[in-house]
Amino acid sequence: MEDLIIIGAGPAGLTSGLYSARARLNAILFEKLMPGGQILSTDSIENYPGFPDGLSGFELVDRMKRQAEKFGLMIRNSEITGLEFHPEKKIVFTSDETLETGALIISSGAVPRKLGVNGEEKLTGKGVSYCATCDGPFYRDQEVAVVGGGDTAVEEALFLTRFASKVYIIHRRDELRATKLLQERALAEEKIAPVWDSVVTQIVGETGVEGIDLLNVKTNEKTHLPVQGIFVYIGFYANNQLVKGLLELDKAGFIITNNEMETSVPGVFAAGDIRAKLLRQVSTAVGDGATAAFAAEKYLNSM
Ligand code: NAP
Repeated sequence: MEDLIIIGAGPAGLTSGLYSARARLNAILFEKLMPGGQILSTDSIENYPGFPDGLSGFELVDRMKRQAEKFGLMIRNSEITGLEFHPEKKIVFTSDETLETGALIISSGAVPRKLGVNGEEKLTGKGVSYCATCDGPFYRDQEVAVVGGGDTAVEEALFLTRFASKVYIIHRRDELRATKLLQERALAEEKIAPVWDSVVTQIVGETGVEGIDLLNVKTNEKTHLPVQGIFVYIGFYANNQLVKGLLELDKAGFIITNNEMETSVPGVFAAGDIRAKLLRQVSTAVGDGATAAFAAEKYLNSM
């Protein structure tokens, strides 16, 4: 039986892994694809303390992974398919094995929300994207739209100005939600054109995006914007399929914990973006991860 299994290798899970390896727990960190989570699609992280010149999400994750492995953390690439909670142990089913563990940390993060309009599914990967860092270079000298007004939308719009000739920010209100510094940068950038009070009603195109239909929510005016790419950043939902019905969740589906990262089931902890909380950042994820590992160690000692 393992001491601890951690699900999800974003900054929260990697930090839990680092702390549990240093605590000499017999811990395994599971990741479906590759470590990193959402920050892998971030070109430059400027607000993680200690890196005054910023660094890419890829580099930060690589450093976190190497640091955890240096202290003996085991990382396995496998998809968790189910969980079972018992008072004395937790059972973890993967695609190829069944494991028992004393404690569990859920750090499976969040997934980008979709617009849910006609054309989105059909044209995903053919002009509709959720990752500017991955797909931005395909739009050199072309016009693109970014949907959303939060930090992600504005950061990615700024990134896209390196390639695109014009970046429209389509936002459903007339004021951005993003951090003031990002707003100032975006509004001062001549390639960025905000389209206020507007929502996308359809993405048009057969084999690639040819444009988007917009509705002005104040005037009800309908317009068409001819763009070759559309990047959707309208928030995230919790990646909670494994724990639905097993743990207490908030209305939006995020796991409810106390300050020690304890969930509604003793021995099961949650950390990072999947947790119900005020601020979802790398800096808050690593704090959650450290606390969850420490609390799990305390729980195991008490058993
Ligand atoms: P977010 O803050 O939830 O913003 C989502 C944006 O999409 C909002 O502007 C929202 O409009 C809009 N929106 C939501 N549903 C929509 C819909 N159906 N149609 C059209 N627009 C819709 O999401 P986020 O920007 O991805 O950020 C998520 C978290 O990560 C935040 O806590 C953020 O601070 C953090 N983050 C931080 C950084 C950084 O610090 N550098 C970078 C990226 C993300 P309204 O404004 O009208 O609600």
